[in-house]
Amino acid sequence: MTSTQTILVVEDEDSFVDAMQVGLKREGFRVEVARDGVEALEMFDSVQPDLILLDVMLPRISGIEVCRQIRKKSTVPIIMVTAKASEIDTVVGLEVGADDYVSKPYRLRELVARMRAVLRRAPDGGGSGDLHPDSIIVGDVALDPEEHRVVIRGDAAALPLKEFELLHLLLANAGRVLPRDTLIDRVWGTDYVGDTKTLDVHIKRLRSKVEDDPAQPTRIVTIRGLGYKYERPRS
Ligand code: CA
Repeated sequence: MTSTQTILVVEDEDSFVDAMQVGLKREGFRVEVARDGVEALEMFDSVQPDLILLDVMLPRISGIEVCRQIRKKSTVPIIMVTAKASEIDTVVGLEVGADDYVSKPYRLRELVARMRAVLRRAPDGGGSGDLHPDSIIVGDVALDPEEHRVVIRGDAAALPLKEFELLHLLLANAGRVLPRDTLIDRVWGTDYVGDTKTLDVHIKRLRSKVEDDPAQPTRIVTIRGLGYKYERPRS
């Protein structure tokens, strides 16, 4: 059994703070609240939270900077909370080291599901067999960034570097649409000058490995006119 987990909620809007305190306590979490970025950094050391819910737009120090500062000293799970979907691209693009992202307005049920998923992946959560604690597990696909290993439906799969990096990005952002430009920038670099078809070719190769039927993908799905999304399994 797990003991009570402490969530540090970093949020300056009263309505969200109130909702989180009521909702998360009902889910069995202990809740501590920081009202701005400076307070968040101070409270991080004293509270030693199991997970941080971190609003992007904060007084004094932004959530992005808070995330950077905490990542210098801790691997604590961090879920960034964005006010607009467009902020997600910024957060993802900046590689600040967050574990997941949610956009306001979010449903408490969705948030708690993501929190539990991130907590399961956390080093103390266990349950991932011989995979490294930093592994990302989505459905029956697991990716271990430390050992550079992918396990698909229980079988180890050898992936070339770019395919591995692409899958890593997709899994780490499962459930979110990743724009084509973001994927190309993150995997091939901003100075990439090759054919944009390269992305599609790599997606096709990944599908042949992770999909049950690569001709009718249900995991790596195309979002027409935007990019690609790794579907979260229906639970
Ligand atoms: Ca805010």
